[in-house]
Amino acid sequence: MGESQLKVLVVGGGPAGMMAAGQAAAAGASVTLLERNDRLGKKLAITGKGRGNVTNDADVEEIIAQFPGNGTFLYGPIYRFTNDDVRRFFAELGVPTVVERGGRVFPKSQKASDLVQAMERFLVKTGVRVQKGERVTRLSVAGGSVVGVKCGEKEITADAVILATGGASYPATGSTGDGYRLAEKAGHAVVKPRPALVPLEVAEKWVPELTGLALKNVSARVLVEGRLAAEEFGEMLFTHYGVSGPIILTLSREATGALNRGKKTQIQINLKPALTPQQLDARLVRDFDKYSRKQFKNSLDDLLPQKLIEPVVRLSGISGDVPVNQITKQQRIKLAETLTALTLNVTAMRPLREAIVTAGGVNVKEIDPATMESKLVKNLYFAGELIDVDGNTGGYNLQAAFSTGFVAGISAGKQE
Ligand SMILES: Cc1cc2nc3c(=O)[nH]c(=O)nc-3n(C[C@H](O)[C@H](O)[C@H](O)COP(=O)(O)OP(=O)(O)OC[C@H]3O[C@@H](n4cnc5c(N)ncnc54)[C@H](O)[C@@H]3O)c2cc1C
Repeated sequence: MGESQLKVLVVGGGPAGMMAAGQAAAAGASVTLLERNDRLGKKLAITGKGRGNVTNDADVEEIIAQFPGNGTFLYGPIYRFTNDDVRRFFAELGVPTVVERGGRVFPKSQKASDLVQAMERFLVKTGVRVQKGERVTRLSVAGGSVVGVKCGEKEITADAVILATGGASYPATGSTGDGYRLAEKAGHAVVKPRPALVPLEVAEKWVPELTGLALKNVSARVLVEGRLAAEEFGEMLFTHYGVSGPIILTLSREATGALNRGKKTQIQINLKPALTPQQLDARLVRDFDKYSRKQFKNSLDDLLPQKLIEPVVRLSGISGDVPVNQITKQQRIKLAETLTALTLNVTAMRPLREAIVTAGGVNVKEIDPATMESKLVKNLYFAGELIDVDGNTGGYNLQAAFSTGFVAGISAGKQE
């Protein structure tokens, strides 16, 4: 360890902090990573339902377009450390990846915990000192420059500090929003944290009965005051309070925006988006022929998951007991409408702690994207979800954490 070796502290052992720490060490600095939990990457380990959607295979431009929250700020960092770089990085650490539907990239092993272990190997390889159970409570700033941190009573000095404490959602993972307070005390403006990618509560009393039902290959629309505001195709999930799952989380941005403006907000589900109205009618005719002697409520087994049959029957306005061969064309049209426009009234979004990502955070105008250094406090760097950027589902948020962590680490660790 040379006399002139820079001492860098990284606060937060999530994907952004671990990437930053390893890169700073690889650049020649003496690096200590401080993590409040007794293990690293608690949130990373539960990403993608435990499968770890680590990035997306899209072009860089497309990736940036997937960040409704300050995507342009990420241009520099994502071009410096691209999705291909993320895949190469993990492959070199023994975790090859595969591309799935929608360009989503996962570890071949399908285990997010493998990503955590790979990052831990990276920290060992680059010689980062990891201190767990250390919660940073303050940044020490002197003469416009950060000079260290406080962990309770303890003071640790440093030449540079990288703040990578994450957002404020899923607080049990350690991301309780500390970084916002630390940055604010150091003089930074923090855009009010709010939920992004958040499940939605709906008024319909029949929805809780469907709890646990996941639908694939459906489309969902957000209607604001009856007008189409957004549409997504893919997977969704019914819960005890309403709806969740990938397409709902993506649509939640439009929905919560409209709710916050006091607008009537609805989610309209098309259960058969691949069929044209003619094809759907032909399908119904076929099923009704097949089950012509049955009651209506017993004729939909081929068309719908079991749990959906009762609500669809009720919403169609056709008596469940009517023999199928007595259903009129008019009634069939009404059923088709129900199947393609199952409408739910959104009453609220779930709280910040249940959001997948926190929107808001340290104002991007106060960070130099070429280095991730603060424009207000010298030698203070930011990385990850703490910054006021937020992306859609599909691996984009982890990509942002890795790219900003990469740039922060290299910049902070580089000898002047
Ligand atoms: C259920 C769920 C699933 C997700 N799935 C995906 C997915 O598949 N793909 C995707 O791209 N994104 C996904 N995300 C989002 C993604 O996990 C986050 O955007 C990402 O983890 C942010 O990385 P980070 O390093 O900035 O913060 P975090 O991962 O939140 O890490 C921050 C770390 O800092 C530590 N810390 C906080 N305060 C202090 C302090 N005062 N002192 C010391 N340490 C501190 C925390 O304990 C934590 O370990 C998911 C999120 C959730 C909640």
